[in-house]
Amino acid sequence: MTELADILAMRSATYYWIGVFVVSLVVFVTAARNPNPRCRRCKELNRPMAMYCAQCGHKLRG
Ligand SMILES: [Zn+2]
Repeated sequence: MTELADILAMRSATYYWIGVFVVSLVVFVTAARNPNPRCRRCKELNRPMAMYCAQCGHKLRG
């Protein structure tokens, strides 16, 4: 026989893992959509929409 406390504990654990999953998914999707391009020449980490490196001017895409 299951106690009410056990049901609540299982439920909160389920919500905890759903929360972990959702946060992981949001972080992953955000990173996938806006990857900060790292310059292949000088290793500078540039802004997501940058076309050229802010440090050395090396082309980041294409
Ligand atoms: Zn660079």
